[in-house]
Amino acid sequence: MPATLLDGKAIAQQIRREVAEQTAEFVTRHGRIPCLAAVLVGDNPASQVYVRSKQKACGDAGMISQLHRLGADATQEQLLALVDRLNNDPAVHGILVQLPLPKQIDEARVLASINPTKDVDAFHPENVGRIVQGRPRFLPCTPHGIQQLLLRSQIPIAGRHVVVVGRSDIVGKPMAIMLMQRGHGGDATVTVCHSRTHDLPSITRQADILIVAIGRPKFVTAEMVKPGAVVIDVGINRTESGLVGDVDFEGVREVAGQITPVPGGVGPLTIAMLLHNTLLAARLQTPGAGAPTGC
Ligand code: NAP
Repeated sequence: MPATLLDGKAIAQQIRREVAEQTAEFVTRHGRIPCLAAVLVGDNPASQVYVRSKQKACGDAGMISQLHRLGADATQEQLLALVDRLNNDPAVHGILVQLPLPKQIDEARVLASINPTKDVDAFHPENVGRIVQGRPRFLPCTPHGIQQLLLRSQIPIAGRHVVVVGRSDIVGKPMAIMLMQRGHGGDATVTVCHSRTHDLPSITRQADILIVAIGRPKFVTAEMVKPGAVVIDVGINRTESGLVGDVDFEGVREVAGQITPVPGGVGPLTIAMLLHNTLLAARLQTPGAGAPTGC
C-alpha cells in the first residue's frame, strides 16, 4: 500500500491561522504591530522569490514587513551598518538576512551582528547555544516546522530512531539537536549522517523517521528506506523536470508509511514558523506580553 501523504501545506495553513489570531489579539492588547525586516543582498532569483513569499505571509498574518535591499557589490560594512540600524529601530521586531550572501561578505559575522532578541532565523550563536542547552528562545524555522509536522500528525517521536541525513547549520544539525532533547517533541534516538558516512543505506534503513536535507535530487531511493518508515524530504532542487526533493518520491512512497511531498511538504511550514518567531520576537520586546501558545 503506498505511503500516506503528510500534508505540510494544510498544517502550515493551520499554524498561520493560529499566528494571525494571536497577532490580532497582540495588536489589540499592546497597540503595536509585529514587524519583520528582511534584508536582501544582490539579485539571486531564488532568494527574491523566498523573500517575496515571506513578505506576503507577514501581510496575511496582520504583520508589517519591510524589505531592505543592497546591491550584489555591497560591502560587509554597509551590511553591518544596515543590521545595526535595524537592531536599534524599536519598530522592527524581527530581522532576517536572506542567505546566501555574496562571497565578499562574511556570513557568520553578519549573523552574529543581529540582536539575538530579533534573530527570527535563530542563527545567532547565542540562540544556537540556547537550543543546544535545551532552553531555546527561537527555534530555526525549517527544523521547527518539521517538528510541528510530526507532532500535529500524531507521529510518535520519543524513543524512536530518527536518522537525519545532512548536517547543515540551518537544517540537519539543529534538527538532530531538537529531536534528541528531553521532553515534548524530543526524546528520540538520533543518528546524523553526511557526505563522509560509510554505507549510508545500512543506516537509513534503520530509521523509524528519516529526515533528508542534502540538496541532491531524488538521492534517497526505496532500497534505503525501512518499510513503514516516516520520510521527511527537506530538499528543494530545481531540475529540468521541475522542483524535486532529495527523495525519489515515486519509488519511496511504495515502501514508506508516511511521506512528505515536494512541493507542499516542508517548505510551507518554514514560512509558518517564521511568522511564529516574528510574533514571539514582538512579544519578547513588549513588556508584559507572554509567549505565544500552540507551537
Ligand atoms: P547544505 O548546507 O548544502 O548541506 C548539505 C548537507 O548534506 C551537508 O551536511 C552534506 O554533508 C550532506 N550531503 C551532501 N551530499 C551527501 C551525500 N551524498 N550523502 C550524505 N550526505 C550528503 O544544505 P541545506 O542548507 O541543509 O539544504 C539541504 C536541502 O534542503 C537543499 O535542497 C535546500 O534547498 C533544502 N532546504 C529546504 C528548506 C525548506 O524550507 N524546505 C529550507 C532549507 C533548505 P557534508 O557536511 O559532509 O558536506
